Amino acid sequence: MGEEKRLIYLDNAATTKTAPEVVEAMLPYFTELYGNPSSVYNFSQKSKETITKAREQIAATLGAQPEEIYFTGSGTEADNWALKATAEAYRSKGNHIITTKIEHHAILHTGQWLEKHGFEVTWLDVDEFGVVKLDELKKAIRPTTILISVMFANNEIGTVQPIQEIGEIAKEHGILFHTDAVQAFGQLPINVDELHIDMLSSSAHKLNGPKGVGFLYIRKGVKIRSFVHGGAQERKRRAGTENVPGIVGYGAAAERAARTMKERTDKERELRDYLINRVLKEVPYTRLNGHRTKRLPNNANFSFQFVEGESLLIMLDMDGICGSSGSACTSGSLDPSHVLLAIGLPHEIAHGSLRLTLSEEITREDIDYVVESIKKIVEHLRSMSPLYEDFMKRNH
Ligand SMILES: *Cc1c(COP(=O)(O)O)cnc(C)c1O
Repeated sequence: MGEEKRLIYLDNAATTKTAPEVVEAMLPYFTELYGNPSSVYNFSQKSKETITKAREQIAATLGAQPEEIYFTGSGTEADNWALKATAEAYRSKGNHIITTKIEHHAILHTGQWLEKHGFEVTWLDVDEFGVVKLDELKKAIRPTTILISVMFANNEIGTVQPIQEIGEIAKEHGILFHTDAVQAFGQLPINVDELHIDMLSSSAHKLNGPKGVGFLYIRKGVKIRSFVHGGAQERKRRAGTENVPGIVGYGAAAERAARTMKERTDKERELRDYLINRVLKEVPYTRLNGHRTKRLPNNANFSFQFVEGESLLIMLDMDGICGSSGSACTSGSLDPSHVLLAIGLPHEIAHGSLRLTLSEEITREDIDYVVESIKKIVEHLRSMSPLYEDFMKRNH
């Protein structure tokens, strides 16, 4: 028997491993307690009660009320719901929405769809680190603005936005504030009251929960339309028999993420900085994308000049390292990431980018192995690049 091949998973922004304790919590709801929560007999009460418990567990981590948490089938669905249903509900007040150029496709494509259906969308620029400019946000506000949607933290470059300030601006102007917190929830402390958040999207599989379950937090008093019509589930706002095991798993994952947050993210932050410092120091013609400190604890994103990102990923894979060239949604297409273009990178540099996102399981030895692998591969790819050859001739 050969030695098992080394696997270093550094794509936790794409998805995470479901924690064993989360799986454990879910299992009984497949084979033993499988009752439909809407049924009347006693056997089904367990399913109903466990959904209530999950709603409470999640609400507690956000400083929200349990009845403000609405389960969905994904983070993408929560984003679609937040935008489309508020647009419809507040249409009599106005047709203008403000968001940013660096949102996830779940927001970008929904905003573009709304533009085709009579809404006007302002797409805010960001600075070179990916931070929204607050004065531009203020300038963009019109009497017809009904919604501001700004992601909490970016999935590609990890930049964390000034959410509290944005919430205050929205509140001052009586405008609803939605945030896509799919990357932030479970990694950063969030209190919806302190941050003046009216709606928040999240997804379980980004915080060691199962795939296929998300939620939208909707502050009490926000008028929002039903998104899926049918039965009376989720207070008649999102019909369909509940994903009971998934919801149980989400509750357990949220509780676990809150309980382990400090220790887990301290460790990740330290290793992230170790990775960043070594790569910037030991690989020439390299830049860090995103903000040095206002970034997710587990995110590193680099651009290597004269290197093609896809080739780098394939060669890292041969060394057992899973990384990403941007978001999972853009891989397979040759367009450079809209986020890297928005922070001002030229196309050729945006193409040579690598995102590595850590988990609590990553060790210093793993990072050492990854840095050595990057050094070797970047050197190899550059040795085959005519652009690099030209550049070296001109500069030496
Ligand atoms: C992953 C992600 C989504 C989509 O969530 P899914 O549950 O995978 O649909 C939305 N926004 C951000 C920022 C994400 O990282």
